[in-house]
Amino acid sequence: MPPSRADLAAKRRRARHLLRAGRSTAAVAAELHMDRRAVRQLRIDAGIPALPGGTPQRLTVEEKWRSHTRRTRGGHMTWTGEHTSAGGRVMRHSGTAYSAHRVAYRIQHGTDPEGHAKSGCGRPGCVAPEHQIDTAERRVVRTPRTVYDSAEAKLAALTRPTGDGHLDWTGPHDSGGRPLLNWRGRHCAPARPAFAQHYGRPPEGRVTAACDHPGCLAGAHLDDRLTRAEHARAYAALGL
Ligand SMILES: [Zn+2]
Ligand SMILES: [Zn+2]
Repeated sequence: MPPSRADLAAKRRRARHLLRAGRSTAAVAAELHMDRRAVRQLRIDAGIPALPGGTPQRLTVEEKWRSHTRRTRGGHMTWTGEHTSAGGRVMRHSGTAYSAHRVAYRIQHGTDPEGHAKSGCGRPGCVAPEHQIDTAERRVVRTPRTVYDSAEAKLAALTRPTGDGHLDWTGPHDSGGRPLLNWRGRHCAPARPAFAQHYGRPPEGRVTAACDHPGCLAGAHLDDRLTRAEHARAYAALGL
């Protein structure tokens, strides 16, 4: 029995989908057992540009990554792409293999993870970018299942009193060496919650330490734009 009109239409839809996903005319023709000229005509009719010089990949790494993910409840993400025999989530792009977690980490942080990236949300295999943590952060948190009730609780766990009234950061740093507090997938300088905790309000403008201990996070040693202005007024009143 010859294929029905509906069958042919479905095949053409499938061909257009594959072409848009960056597959070559030849690859689509081979996969769908279609005539190359017919596939080329479909490409022209749908306005899908031909691949320059037969470049195998039209999607960027991130676009390809996204096409292999599915959001699930609770903000998690399932990997629907390739797995290694050991269960690793991977994808290939222009001849290079990528770890799905590593790409996810890069999407969230803009930098490569230190060591390996994996989910820190307690759901193994979750590839949601905002749920990825790297080896450096796992070392600090000790167990990826540690859940802090608040940014302040996490701050307390990642700081250490110096013994002479200051407070040191023991948590992770960004690629520029600045301390980085990751709270529920959002990042901030730990000085901000440290300030808020001490003053009972969020800081305005930049938070700076007024003491001589580099990177100090003791709330009482921190200033924002408003407290700096207050000090300046007080000094002026004293004629200083
Ligand atoms: Zn997750
Ligand atoms: Zn201090």
